[in-house]
Amino acid sequence: KSDIKNRKEGFWRLSKLGVPLSKDPGKDFVGVSPPLLEAIAKVLEFPVASMLPHEAFFVVRKSFDARKLLKEPEFVYTVDMDVKQLLELEPRTWDFIDRLEYKVGLVEYMPSETVSLDLISIIHDSKDNKEGKQEMDSSNSYKFPHPRPKVAVVGSGPSGLFACLVLVELGAEVTLIERGQPVEQRGRDIGALVARRILQSDSNFCFGEGGAGTWSDGKLVTRIGRNSDSVQAVMKTLVRFGAPMDILIDGKPHLGTDRLIPLLRNFRNHLEELGVILKFSTRMDDLIVENKNVLGVKVSNVRQDPGSGSYNLFYDAVVLAVGHSARDVYQMLLQHNVGLIPKDFAVGLRIEHPQELINSIQYSALAAEVREGRGKVPVADYKLVKYVGEGNADTSSDLGDQTRSCYSFCMCPGGQVVLTSTDPSELCINGMSFSRRASRWANAAVVITVSSNDFDAFKCHGPLAGVEFQREFEKQAALMGGGSFVVPAQTVTDFLNNKLSVTSLPLSSYRLGVKAANLHNLYPAPITQALQHSISMFDKELPGFISKDALLHGVETRTSAPLKISRHSDTYESTSLNRLYPTGEGAGYAGGIVSAAVDGMYCGFALAKKLNLFQGDT
Ligand code: FAD
Repeated sequence: KSDIKNRKEGFWRLSKLGVPLSKDPGKDFVGVSPPLLEAIAKVLEFPVASMLPHEAFFVVRKSFDARKLLKEPEFVYTVDMDVKQLLELEPRTWDFIDRLEYKVGLVEYMPSETVSLDLISIIHDSKDNKEGKQEMDSSNSYKFPHPRPKVAVVGSGPSGLFACLVLVELGAEVTLIERGQPVEQRGRDIGALVARRILQSDSNFCFGEGGAGTWSDGKLVTRIGRNSDSVQAVMKTLVRFGAPMDILIDGKPHLGTDRLIPLLRNFRNHLEELGVILKFSTRMDDLIVENKNVLGVKVSNVRQDPGSGSYNLFYDAVVLAVGHSARDVYQMLLQHNVGLIPKDFAVGLRIEHPQELINSIQYSALAAEVREGRGKVPVADYKLVKYVGEGNADTSSDLGDQTRSCYSFCMCPGGQVVLTSTDPSELCINGMSFSRRASRWANAAVVITVSSNDFDAFKCHGPLAGVEFQREFEKQAALMGGGSFVVPAQTVTDFLNNKLSVTSLPLSSYRLGVKAANLHNLYPAPITQALQHSISMFDKELPGFISKDALLHGVETRTSAPLKISRHSDTYESTSLNRLYPTGEGAGYAGGIVSAAVDGMYCGFALAKKLNLFQGDT
């Protein structure tokens, strides 16, 4: 108690405040409701909850907890209490605040509120506060330095967009080079793929404005620290461009494709207003390199005749934000002797269940409350992680001699399985959803980590070993599906028994069709057996996961980049070529929308520092 200097100021963070489902206004309400005030009053030991002024409390996090051991499912809140405001509005609370005990993870004191801002506000603040405050022009915009350094950002996924935003806000002249189409045309290309099996090699589920995450589930969960300033800055920037406020509070925030598209349009408009030159349908084919310095890029217009539109563009620096499906870029980098280091990733299959089944496994009787995403109860999801192999209780001699982690990945409740191939001879899949997650299916990848031992065993060597390894199974999946992007599929029960599904397959959300196949013919035996083993373990955690209605689809290979593009940890510059800045998932420094955006943001600041556009601390 004595450690807290001035109890009449600052903030108390109150965590794990449970509000029973029957009393809570539901998943979409993010304010301070009367039942939440009751939970707060209990912690403060304040006798009359209704006397607590809700204006003094701010919801920081809200999650749904339906664990079976609870008497009733509940929403669990974290709330910040502004002491000064509380005392002003209700002075009778003083005795109770004065008695508050510090309890790690439950009741914690913060001398000041942790106010995090969106990225644009952070940059504007830094311009206003720095010595010799940056000049404004007559229209009250910041004056840019002269001459402005010229930067190319290649790739308009989350990492490219955030790098671009930082650089242009700080005064660089930025050109955004994207091989795919803006979201409007990209939507039409994806429509043609799903309806008429026409795959545009540069405009598809992986390539185009917004990158791989545009036609996705838009999950914004990240393993890099949800409350960190960098993640908060990214999340608040997404809100600035149109994401709903609840992503800042929801324990499992997600957007869905329908919300991502307008958000990207707003992002694009902002960049355009600041003068970013946008070059869609423009593929970077090569780097222009002289004495280990990158001088620019060779590009071609992908909508024109091949070879007709190839030209050179020169820049002071090039940000490489191409994602992990740009295998042609990896090959080109290898030719320039850029340091590429193979890394572990994961491969497996995508499993799909009826969403109703997952709801009932997770919620039992409460499943009836889900009501296609419109009810109080969120559509059920799951996240499973197990270890198989040596040194584990579940060791089996068939699993090879390495310990592997097996886990569910990119789970899409109320979603659909989609084709993420970028080449018609290869077949790989992933999942997407819309914001309401209202489809009848739940899909997730079930994957196993693979490493250089696996690549070697498959005679895949060198820096691109992981890419070759992925490609093997993508080609095999295309053959097993019989062409035209038909996906090989097997019921879970038949996969566990190693037998071809002969009766008709359960329905699939995958629009281009599934064909019965024995998925044991895809991966090497140790991977297949690890998958079988992990599915059996998952069923112990979620009884009913193994079901005659669950269908496995092949293959899921692009879970993260199969290599790292070596870069200096402080400057973000390539260790092999000067003036080249690899970033995001394709460079091996991120996995997911938020972490890619954060990496792009830091890369933007590091490059701005090098170009003398920014003196601050990143
Ligand atoms: P990308 O988003 O891959 O962007 C790279 C961009 O570079 C692309 O637009 C590409 O067209 C462009 N490009 C490539 N080569 C060139 C070139 N030579 N010239 C010009 N441009 C080029 N993550 C989540 O966090 N949550 C999810 O729910 C989620 N769901 C997903 C669903 C699907 C279907 C897919 C495919 C991915 C999903 N992901 C999800 C992963 C997420 O999309 C990626 O982690 C993230 O987009 C990586 O961002 P990035 O900027 O590094 O690369």
